[in-house]
Amino acid sequence: MTNDAYQARHGQGRGCVIRRKACFSASHLYHLPELSSEENASIFGSCSIAPGHGHNYELIVSMGGELDSDGMVLNLSDVKHAISSEVTDQLNFRFLNEIWPEFDLSKPNGCLPTTEALVKTIWERLILHLPLVSLRLYESPGLWADYLGNSMEAYLTIRTHFAAAHRLARPELTQEENEKIYGKCARPHGHGHNYFVDITIRGSIDPRTGMICDLSALNRVVNEIIVEKFDHSFLNKDIHYFKECVPTAENIALYISDQLSRPIQHIGAYLHKIRLQESPNNSAEVYAEVPKLEIAPNSINALATK
Ligand SMILES: [Zn+2]
Ligand SMILES: [Zn+2]
Repeated sequence: MTNDAYQARHGQGRGCVIRRKACFSASHLYHLPELSSEENASIFGSCSIAPGHGHNYELIVSMGGELDSDGMVLNLSDVKHAISSEVTDQLNFRFLNEIWPEFDLSKPNGCLPTTEALVKTIWERLILHLPLVSLRLYESPGLWADYLGNSMEAYLTIRTHFAAAHRLARPELTQEENEKIYGKCARPHGHGHNYFVDITIRGSIDPRTGMICDLSALNRVVNEIIVEKFDHSFLNKDIHYFKECVPTAENIALYISDQLSRPIQHIGAYLHKIRLQESPNNSAEVYAEVPKLEIAPNSINALATK
């Protein structure tokens, strides 16, 4: 076998994205020295209570490149070493406000160590060592940030949930016709799900607060417009829109997206994506900024999954 053929057998030169997960625990405090205690409390809520609070962070590192002659994008021991020496060994069991100069709030360019500011700072440090495609940082199972190396732009996702009943049936069809299309989901008295909704916003990280938008305002908007109305409801009867429109997971995700787009713009961000999980086995995703998926942005593929 020639040398070229031998190398091709191991995939040399072909492209691939690889992911590596790393964890660390750290504390932080949201308190800007130029603001009074009252102002800090009103903007940052309980996150401003001294001396701070902590999270078990989970970092997902996505890297891309061509396979080498050993059939790897990168040697995993090099990846592990770069992540631990540049990130986790430095941050684990530390107070984030004091560990890196980027978060030194006594300096005018210091920034609060929010999830989105932290994932951007980790990128700036890791990109010197690894061919990053995207980074995702989970602060908790209900809040995470994605960064794709695009200046101050980041993505923040919050997860919420509601329990609701629905029935899948088109009013203009007979019961028999509906059961042919929707199966058991067309039974006349409906059935229910514990829905999870992931709301992903896109925007520019504020260089001082480290935030894309006011997180409590985002939570308020989502609770008022979606959770309060949907939770413990029969969607077909209680939500006017679903009297006419079949409340499939796809349609619920689209409706949530339509309802949230404008209010999220009012708080200074863009709704990027809604993911509705109906059961452990099925979910629907709507990209609010791309009505037709043939013009998908890079972020659709680059955003890491767990
Ligand atoms: Zn926190
Ligand atoms: Zn169902």
